[in-house]
Amino acid sequence: MTGARVVVSSDQDKKPHEGAPVLAARGIGKRFGGIVALSDVHFELASGEIHALMGENGAGKSTLMKILSGVYPQYEGEVLLDGMPVSFANVRQAEAAGIAIIHQELNLVPELTVADNVFLGREPRIAGLVIDRKAGRAAARDLLGRLGINLDPDMRVGNLRVGEQQLVEIAKALSFSARILIMDEPTSALSPLECERLFRIVRQLAREGVAIVYISHRIDEVMHLADRVTVFRDGRHVMTSIMTELTEDHIIAAMVGRDLLAATAADMTERGATLLSVRDLTLEKPHRRGWRKVLRGVSFDLHAGEILGIGGLLGSGRTEILETIFGSATGRPGGEIRIRGELADIRSPRDARRLGLAMVTEDRKGQGLHLQSSITDNVALPLVGRLARFGIRSFAGETRLARQAVQALGIRCESVGQAAGTLSGGNQQKVVIGKWLATQPRVLLLDEPTRGIDVGAKREIYDLVFHLARKDGLAIVVVSSEMPELLLLSDRILVMSEGRQTGLIKRDEASEERIMQLAAPYGRKAAA
Ligand code: ADP
Ligand code: MG
Repeated sequence: MTGARVVVSSDQDKKPHEGAPVLAARGIGKRFGGIVALSDVHFELASGEIHALMGENGAGKSTLMKILSGVYPQYEGEVLLDGMPVSFANVRQAEAAGIAIIHQELNLVPELTVADNVFLGREPRIAGLVIDRKAGRAAARDLLGRLGINLDPDMRVGNLRVGEQQLVEIAKALSFSARILIMDEPTSALSPLECERLFRIVRQLAREGVAIVYISHRIDEVMHLADRVTVFRDGRHVMTSIMTELTEDHIIAAMVGRDLLAATAADMTERGATLLSVRDLTLEKPHRRGWRKVLRGVSFDLHAGEILGIGGLLGSGRTEILETIFGSATGRPGGEIRIRGELADIRSPRDARRLGLAMVTEDRKGQGLHLQSSITDNVALPLVGRLARFGIRSFAGETRLARQAVQALGIRCESVGQAAGTLSGGNQQKVVIGKWLATQPRVLLLDEPTRGIDVGAKREIYDLVFHLARKDGLAIVVVSSEMPELLLLSDRILVMSEGRQTGLIKRDEASEERIMQLAAPYGRKAAA
């Protein structure tokens, strides 16, 4: 079923493609209401090349591909096919011109068979009238055979695995002899074996002369597969380069912003005193009639000015580390926490706060932020007691504090009286961080600080985190599920797997691959 196992390796015989492009996009702009999705971008594709398109979420990758494949007929700029201007009014016209797209979300009819899906709307007919199912099946088998896939054309697509459904999409694209194949994040739901099979097919198609646009945010796979890479950021073209001239760092820098990386590297020369030491931290949670260990022996030191990242899969214990340190974990904690060398007995967030700790939770709407309340009330909330004089709230003091936060963090708002719920996601997050900074913490714990906020605001949060560490000397712990974010922010990365600390790696030793290895559940690691 799965075909031969092919080792992923870059083909030596392939050259960069410098001939005339089969497809070119110039000066493309696209808006959705007030949102600028693309602004003056260009993109070129040569026949037989695998061209990776990369960029963070919201960079505009899918939007450009939807323009090239006729999904969005309205846009600025021009598209050239074999040097001739074209404009597709719909997907059918793009298909007729040989451009096929496999969307992030697959577009198959689960109730129909493989063969019916491949030829949907273009079924072979007997004398142009009756659908010729036999011919359809044979043609489908032919196509699948060409891809080296052993799939039964009579299978219902709904019964296939996602990886197999993707192959049906590819067969469908080939059924109208696509010369240009666009694949939008094809491997996000595939197993490693299915990925390898897909890579083999993609390479074969490229050898046959098909031009392939391959969208992915998995850097290692792109480096193995692609001949060229183009990076978008915030709807703009950042670079196009031949893969062999690039390192992973180049690509990440282009994706998240070069300036930011340079700033980090420059400032990472010294680190301050040890602010937080954690030894053999454990946490047990009630489970059925007994206890279940969710943290088993986590240990690290954190210095002033340092950013420690925590990586791992969902449920590996990342958030529990923060909660256990902050005194907000439910269950039975164990181990030793020292703040500036002093043994700390933290039984509640109140204890933690008193010792100079602050924590920004993952769920900013649930725990961090009061959406109905003003920016002032949110920022001043943990401090109402401290700001009060003789037991009377100091509204002037609270307003001053809120204004300071707005200015220091670059919160975009009309006034500090504005309800927090009316701010954008990025600005809401800044309010939450501002609220905690008002307590003047020395150690800041951040859980998924950029979840659900757009790219521009993300970079502002990154800037803020760097500033707080490098300039203000805070010690910062960041839990993140986003690999580029983790790699960008962290001076060291602690990797968790099933409640265990499986690694503590330095910035220059860290890579997406290494982290994935360490994060893999124990069973799978043993099998690998
Ligand atoms: P990517 O594929 O690189 O993640 P997209 O092309 O999907 O990025 O999105 C680029 C920007 O355009 C984002 O800010 C996104 O929210 C916005 N966008 C994309 N499609 C639509 C749409 N149909 N309506 C409104 N905004 C959209
Ligand atoms: Mg997309």
